[in-house]
Amino acid sequence: MELFESVLSKHNIVLERGVFTTLQVNIGKLCNQQCLHCHVEAGPKRLENMERKTVDRLIELLSNDAQIETVDITGGAPELNPHFRYFVKSVRKMGKEVIDRCNLTVLSEKGQEGTAEFLAGEGVQVVASLPCYLKENVEAQRGHGSFALSIAGLQKLNGFGYGKEGSGLILNIVYNPVGVHLPPEQAALEADYRANLQKYGIEFNHLFTITNMPIKRYAEALEKGASKREYLRLLIDNFNPQAATEVMCKTLLSVGWNGQLYDCDFNQMLEIQLNLRSLDIWEIERFKDVGSGISVADHCFGCTAGTGSSCSGALV
Ligand code: SF4
Ligand code: SF4
Repeated sequence: MELFESVLSKHNIVLERGVFTTLQVNIGKLCNQQCLHCHVEAGPKRLENMERKTVDRLIELLSNDAQIETVDITGGAPELNPHFRYFVKSVRKMGKEVIDRCNLTVLSEKGQEGTAEFLAGEGVQVVASLPCYLKENVEAQRGHGSFALSIAGLQKLNGFGYGKEGSGLILNIVYNPVGVHLPPEQAALEADYRANLQKYGIEFNHLFTITNMPIKRYAEALEKGASKREYLRLLIDNFNPQAATEVMCKTLLSVGWNGQLYDCDFNQMLEIQLNLRSLDIWEIERFKDVGSGISVADHCFGCTAGTGSSCSGALV
């Protein structure tokens, strides 16, 4: 038994997927960036990208599914998938919410000139990653020049009404720690971000704090610095049972670029199968056919440490 399972059982916590309302779609691993902490190991050379037939099957399943209210599109940089706009438009036509997990710098890439306007026109909610409001910290994680491009991306989104009161266009920002520590308190950090980004005239709705997952590229970086054990200890020592009852896998289902189904994007990257068996979108008639079991392992301590962590920020 994994340590995480025994800790859950010590606290009498059983993780099960209930009525889930979010489908998180990882549309591909192609990205214009190659960040140090990336759990997807995304980058400009990755070839995995969702094909049109897979997008079409998702649209078919979603159009017969009233339970899924939100389609949360992630990557890589989702906007680089050639079927991104088609997918977004199709889902919006169904009246469902769409979230675009945008790295901001992609908005300055060649061919992406109309993306911010497209997102605004479709009423897509943008969750934008910006690991700090300080240039040196952003560039330590995302590379030289990434801070200026991120600020330009936020300004562009603001220009189309994102984050502005009364516009209905939601712009949330994601923070993740640069060093080997847990995120600070979300509300206090949101105030710091607001004050610092105001200098660039930037407005946004909320800040989400996310704990770095000790897997893939971030795990390698920790190993190089000999701090992987220290980081795992930090996550384990800060296990919060209240956060464990709120983890996001209870309310979402995750789909990979090839149509494979998973409990969450982290399990997807570790290829931990749903209910310990392989299942894809062609093998089900409805999303709820996937059952309620959730496969956990020790990386799950990343979701339950401190105030907890999810794609929508702190849990408690
Ligand atoms: S963290 Fe996001 S922006 Fe950075 S490489 Fe990964 S997918 Fe791309
Ligand atoms: S890593 Fe995934 S499966 Fe584990 S607790 Fe977090 S969301 Fe759930």
